[in-house]
Amino acid sequence: MALTINPLACPQNHRCPITRVCPVGAISQDGYGLPVIDETQCIECGKCAKYCPMRAIENKH
Ligand code: SF4
Repeated sequence: MALTINPLACPQNHRCPITRVCPVGAISQDGYGLPVIDETQCIECGKCAKYCPMRAIENKH
């Protein structure tokens, strides 16, 4: 998995804007509002890393 979420950079407790950016609906949010990527659905397009305003998602590609 090339995408990793940095919980320290994410403010959490909010409606994460990148859940709507993911083309395959692979991102949901946990009980604290932290985004969670479903690795079985993710196609590693990198859009979430590009659009996260907090740069909380790293794309290691
Ligand atoms: S890399 Fe693309 S497919 Fe994977 S979670 Fe991010 S936006 Fe969705």
